[in-house]
Amino acid sequence: MIYFWEELTTIKISELSSKKPVVILPVGATEQHGPHLPTGVDHFIVDEIIRRTTDLIDFNVLVLPTIKYGKSIEHANYPGTISLGSSTLCSVFRDIARSVKNSGFDKLLVLNGHGGNYNILSSLVRDLSIELNITAVLCDWDSLIPLECECYERKERCYGVHGGQIETSLMLKSHGKLVEKNQIKNFHSKAEKFDKANQVLRYLGPTSIGWKIEDLNSEGAVGNAVKSTESDGESIYMLAVEKLHKLLVELDTLNKGL
Ligand SMILES: [Zn+2]
Repeated sequence: MIYFWEELTTIKISELSSKKPVVILPVGATEQHGPHLPTGVDHFIVDEIIRRTTDLIDFNVLVLPTIKYGKSIEHANYPGTISLGSSTLCSVFRDIARSVKNSGFDKLLVLNGHGGNYNILSSLVRDLSIELNITAVLCDWDSLIPLECECYERKERCYGVHGGQIETSLMLKSHGKLVEKNQIKNFHSKAEKFDKANQVLRYLGPTSIGWKIEDLNSEGAVGNAVKSTESDGESIYMLAVEKLHKLLVELDTLNKGL
């Protein structure tokens, strides 16, 4: 059974803590996503994956209210972006994790919807698991889907990282009314050409250069959104939900130290 933190009383949360469920902290961003998608994409997608996983869960999972802001400095030059500084995001995350522990829970899964949050959250998850003696795990939602599948090619997965085919397909499926369909196009990423011109230096990955989204495409999106379909969105959601379910089962049965 999935419970939502803000729907429960203090007594019910206390009762639930004795059962030691996994607590999910969804984290997103509020940032521009090109001319065709709304600013809430990164938390809309994470929340939808969790909502769909609800049907599969036959053990206790507790979902915290979603953090809808993230570190989005790479999108700061576009109206609509609300970016937290690194230290603000750290403080918010630390205080939430500490409060979760104080409420009696010791398994935390951070489900992240925005790539710009990843490095900070990864470091914090390590620190807090040691400082608070909890099991803490960070999962980027897009690690729940394969590098390539029937719906998209590997190239799109690598370069279409913001408002491209994958995010647009998901949004068409779950939030279709919010998609400006006449603004959908192929947002070519300059990173592809850059990678061909360099052997080691990259825009994305372990040897990457710091970038702003306009370095990749002046319209603030990258990826071939023209190929997006609602039915692919359904398939991609199903892939993500299946893997999140497996992750939750493994975390539910995990005994630390084994
Ligand atoms: Zn996004």
